[in-house]
Order: sequence, then C-alpha cells, then structure tokens
Amino acid sequence: MSIDAASGGMRPVPLAHKSLAEYAPVVGDDVIAEIETLARPLQGVRVAHISATAYGGGVAEMLHTLVPLMRSVGLQAEWRIISGSEPFFTITKSMHNALQGKEFTLTQAMRDIYMQANERNAASFENDYDFVVVHDPQPAALRSLIAGHGTWIWRCHIDPSDAQPAVWQFLRPFIEAYDAAIFTLPAFVKPDLRVHKVAIIPPAIDPLSPKNTFLPADEIAEIVALVDVDPLRPTIVQVSRFDPWKDPLGVIDVYRAVRREIPGVQLVMLGAMAHDDPEGRIFFEQTTRYAGNDPDIHLLTNAGGSIEVNAFQRHASVILQKSLREGFGLTVTEGLWKERPVVANNVGGISLQIEDGVSGYLVSNTQECIERALTVLREPEVALQLGRNGREVVRNNFLSTANLRNYLRLFHELSTARE
Ligand code: UDP
Repeated sequence: MSIDAASGGMRPVPLAHKSLAEYAPVVGDDVIAEIETLARPLQGVRVAHISATAYGGGVAEMLHTLVPLMRSVGLQAEWRIISGSEPFFTITKSMHNALQGKEFTLTQAMRDIYMQANERNAASFENDYDFVVVHDPQPAALRSLIAGHGTWIWRCHIDPSDAQPAVWQFLRPFIEAYDAAIFTLPAFVKPDLRVHKVAIIPPAIDPLSPKNTFLPADEIAEIVALVDVDPLRPTIVQVSRFDPWKDPLGVIDVYRAVRREIPGVQLVMLGAMAHDDPEGRIFFEQTTRYAGNDPDIHLLTNAGGSIEVNAFQRHASVILQKSLREGFGLTVTEGLWKERPVVANNVGGISLQIEDGVSGYLVSNTQECIERALTVLREPEVALQLGRNGREVVRNNFLSTANLRNYLRLFHELSTARE
C-alpha cells in the first residue's frame, strides 16, 4: 500500500537489509543466541513502527537499524511515516519543546490541526498488526482513532518530566489508550500517567553504522587535517548542536584553562546546523564571537556527516559533553564506544552511561571539568583505561542488539499478559 503524501496518509520507509549475524563479532555469540531464543516464539509476528520522519534525528537513526534487525530475526516488521502539513509539523515541534519544558500556548486551532492530521493518517492505516509501536508525540493520537486488535505501544524519546501541563494534559488521554508506554529513564515517566505497562528502554547506537564503525588512523588524520586541525596535537572535542543547553561558551572556558597548562591543545566543536534553525545560527554566532580569533578553536557547522563525526570523536584526546541538561546524550555513547575518555556534566541520562572515575568522568561545574580534562590529557594510562571501560558499558547496554533484545522482551511480556 503506497499512499501519496498529499492525500494525508502514511508512507512506508524503504529499508536496508541487515543481518543479526553481522553483529556477532561485536557483541559475542551469547547475545546473538539470547536474541534468537527470544525471537523464536515471535516468528511471523507483524509489527508496524510509526514515526514522523525517516531522516534526521536520533529516532530515525535508530529505526533504520532496529526495523531491519527485527526482520532479520523473523518478525514481519515495517516502518511507516506519517504525513502532515507544514503547520502540523510546526505545531508538533512546539509541542515537543513544550514537553521538554519550554513555554507554549496550545490553542484550540492548533489542537484541531493536530487532530485532523492524525485522523487523515489513521484513515490510511490498515490495522492488521500484532504490535504497533508509535514513536513520539506527533502520531500519538493514532491509537484513539484506530479501532481493532493488536497491542499498541507508545515510545517516548524525550524527557517530559518538566512538560508544560497544558500540552501534557492534551496528550495524556491519547497515551493512556495504549497498552504500554516506553520511556528512556524511570525519571522520565510522568507520575499521573495511567497505562497498563510502562517499560524502560534506553536508546542505542549501531556499532556497524558509518558513524560508529572502525576507522583507520590515516583516514582519521586525513579527515581532521581537511579542516586545518593538526592530527598530531592533542584535541578537545565536543559534538553537539549550538544550543545553550550544550553550554558551548563553557566548553571554550574549559579549553582556555586547559591550554594555559598544556600549550598546543586544540578545540573542535562540531555542530551540524539545520537551515531552518535560526536559533542555532544565533547561538553559533554568539559562540564565534566568544571564541575570538584563536586559530586553534575550530567551530565546524558543515563538517557534520557521519564519517566526519566518527573521525573527530576518534581523534579526540578528550571528549567533553558539558550539557546543562540532557535527555540521554547519544554523543556520550558514541564517544565511549570509541574508547575515548569522556568528561561530562552529571545531568539526565549521562549518569546511566558513565560511572565516575571508571568509564569516564562526571563533573558538576566548569572547574571540575577543567581538572578532569587535564587529568586525562596528562595521564594517558588513565585515559586508556576509562576508554576501555566505557566501550564495555556501551557494548553491554547501549548497542542496537540490546535495543532489539529489549523490544523482544517487551513483546513477550505483553503477549503473556494477553493470554
Ligand atoms: N550529530 C551529528 N552531527 C553534528 C552534531 C551532532 O551527526 O554535527 C549527532 C550526534 O552524533 C548524535 C546526535 O546528533 O548522534 C545528537 O544526539 P544527542 O542525544 O547527543 O543530543 P540531542 O541533539 O538529541 O540533544
């Protein structure tokens, strides 16, 4: 079934082929065997994932791996994206921000646009699935608009703990129509949510994707040299959007203090800039002014392809994540996976990934961040050990295979509950 976007229906997302067996050298045979055991009673089970977009952002990135892996273990998994007008996506972007705490007034006209788009998408959906997983708020109303069988799960990828009450109260009844809801962390679960089952599943990275796969040293050196970063000098790296919550000015403070102690250190801040993100441009310009004309500060906005991110993360002598607030922090996961020492502010999901002094350093302010960055730059043995431990944490908890296993477990639990 292929429905044109203009008709307001859902569209299938073309998927690459992936095989679970390819992950065996990374995660080990035991993990593969456990997944196969979990998948055995789920053979042929029909699963639909529904989300707002097929490209851009962490949700799309994860589904491009998760859905093919579900197919690879015998589930009939599909992924559909909803369609909607520009006003619909503008409203849902604001709702998304409001769920993360930003002031926003949800007018009746906006509610109507949200409902109309969900109704049009619902009309195009043939509900003959065993499991339907709906991602994030944009399509959240679908369950209330589609009758019929199947187990419906809402997957929340954001941290709604400080949500604006009006937006949360608008969405809550839609979410309560689901059989289960998935959150990233227990702290993200809204206390007033009444849903049959709440599951906690952290995000995951794909170790075989261009962003995370192995890169040889000469290729890394070539990529960083392309933008005049010296491959032979120590480098502090933060990969993040130019956003005040990522504290770009604080990162420059850390670099300056470190450089007074270790001359020759360079700073790279890598943050892809969406053309339609005027806010990002303002913060980028502010960061540029703060950086002044230091030739060793590299603020890169158009070198943000997956392979470049991979190269800069691998080149880093220390990876910073100075966020003042963070949902999970995939950049931390990516840095740990590359065996780099990560120094990160102790906020949100970062503490789930870093055990202080074991798999990286957790800090609470700029001074601590400077001290820890100096430690890893001065003590290569410490840096090496933190990196090694960090990679194991990610291997055991935050790879695509763990994500697949978590979903299969949830499908089991929900199937058993229905019997
Ligand atoms: N990212 C990227 N290019 C950039 C900056 C960021 O590809 O120039 C990616 C980064 O590798 C990570 C994601 O964007 O996968 C950011 O996710 P995270 O959870 O760290 O932060 P968010 O942007 O969702 O707040």
